[in-house]
Amino acid sequence: MYKNYINGKWVDAKSGENFIKINPATGEEIGSFPYSGKEDVDDAVKSAKEAFPKWSKLPLPDRGAIMRKFGDLMMEHKEELARIETQEMGKVLKETRGDVQEAIDTAYYAFGEATRFFGHTVPSELPNKICLTFKRPIGVAGLIAPWNFPAAIPCWKMIPALLSGNTLVLKPSREAPWTSTRLIELLIESGVPKGVVNLVQGPGGIVGEAISKHPDIGVVSFTGSVETGSRIAEVAGKLLKRVSLELGGKNGQIVMRDANLELAIDGVLWGAFGTTGQRCTATSRLILDEEIHDKFLAMLIDRAKKLKIGNGLDEGMEMGPVISKSQREKIDKYVQIGKEEAKLECGGNFYTDNKCDSGFFYEPTIFSGVNKNMRIAQEEIFGPVLAVIKVCGLNEAIDVINSTKYGLSSSIYTQDVNAAMQAVERIEAGITYVNGPTIGAECHLPFGGVKNTGNGHREGGWTVYEIFTEFQTVYIDYSGKLQRAQLDD
Ligand code: NAD
Repeated sequence: MYKNYINGKWVDAKSGENFIKINPATGEEIGSFPYSGKEDVDDAVKSAKEAFPKWSKLPLPDRGAIMRKFGDLMMEHKEELARIETQEMGKVLKETRGDVQEAIDTAYYAFGEATRFFGHTVPSELPNKICLTFKRPIGVAGLIAPWNFPAAIPCWKMIPALLSGNTLVLKPSREAPWTSTRLIELLIESGVPKGVVNLVQGPGGIVGEAISKHPDIGVVSFTGSVETGSRIAEVAGKLLKRVSLELGGKNGQIVMRDANLELAIDGVLWGAFGTTGQRCTATSRLILDEEIHDKFLAMLIDRAKKLKIGNGLDEGMEMGPVISKSQREKIDKYVQIGKEEAKLECGGNFYTDNKCDSGFFYEPTIFSGVNKNMRIAQEEIFGPVLAVIKVCGLNEAIDVINSTKYGLSSSIYTQDVNAAMQAVERIEAGITYVNGPTIGAECHLPFGGVKNTGNGHREGGWTVYEIFTEFQTVYIDYSGKLQRAQLDD
């Protein structure tokens, strides 16, 4: 039985209630976790608020050293963390190892950032006066995470929040409570003092909502669906909190007639069926130039049918289950819609074999004959379903890729540098790849999307530190007299 971590202690939910987490590959129980409520969030925020003054005064390099230690510990426990992740959310081991590595890289990046937490020094418009800026922590950060990157996403949030001098309350998804528990244990071992990090497990509508509404939380960082994100924007925005939202996607890969087709096939297979299609950056639309459409589609179907599907703990598997029974049903509903709208080329069913019968597996599914306005081309399915759209030339390809309300990731395969640069300039997305799939972000670069994918913030790299800090502008006048900006000659 797992617990919350509040004010330096592992505790049950005040209500005493728990929820059970299931392994999506086997249907077996992983463990029970606290079904927390508002009162648990109140305790966690109180603890974080009390810990803030001391933690925020600790010199940045000292906080950086704790993050480095955290990175070292994750490295030491990389295989254990990867196996925990695979069991709780189903991704194959190769991918969960990558997920943990991203968390490790984030910790080491923060260690470096600790000694270069730059402000600006700028000239004044008046003599004998200087102007500079400092980045200051905000206070208590409320962090709400999804389940598809159980190590990387909580770490993308916790590490920069802590390095910046904030204290925090983390609420993981109910579908990924175990990895977060282990991460908090390792953070404690790294030397984070009592009260600085707090973990509250439980349902989003109660725990997440209580975080978004709490008057003592200064910044809410959320990754998840558009629906939940807009609810948080409404609740936390009304209270004038800083709110960072990283939301869904309907990402497209364009393949032009001059592309290296083998390379583009590798890209789309990885982009569409890696993480069983459950990435915010997953390729869910494939936009094919009419000249190569038929040949490429045939090659793709052949390769998709050969993907090795099974329990992610078995080395060599290429695609695991989807996260839950209800998610599998949602995917299947979209497949039924797709069958009415377009042509099913392969997949389209629950995947079963002797080993997979108790898990939530779905076949890699491809539709052709899709047009840009169909529901399967517009709505985020979050599963192994790919919609193929035929276009004529670059202009139509760009028009199609831009035709959704989302704008997270995008990709173009071409050997023509002019076409590639046209696409880079005209695609409406936070991330664009040339001759690479839509997935595979590196943690030292800004990550996020335009349009309904977010609200303008960028996690990752140096930009995430703007989410977790406030600028303080300082003017120092050493003229010894009253100088009035804009008024004095
Ligand atoms: P979700 O929105 O259902 O849940 C995300 C988190 O929000 C969970 O912890 C959940 O418990 C919590 N939550 C639910 N209701 C809430 C409420 N009313 N107030 C506050 N919190 C609440 O998303 P999910 O199913 O966990 O993840 C899948 C979604 O996340 C997809 O849409 C995917 O595209 C998106 N995602 C985006 C990114 C990105 O960086 N852009 C990364 C990964 C996933």
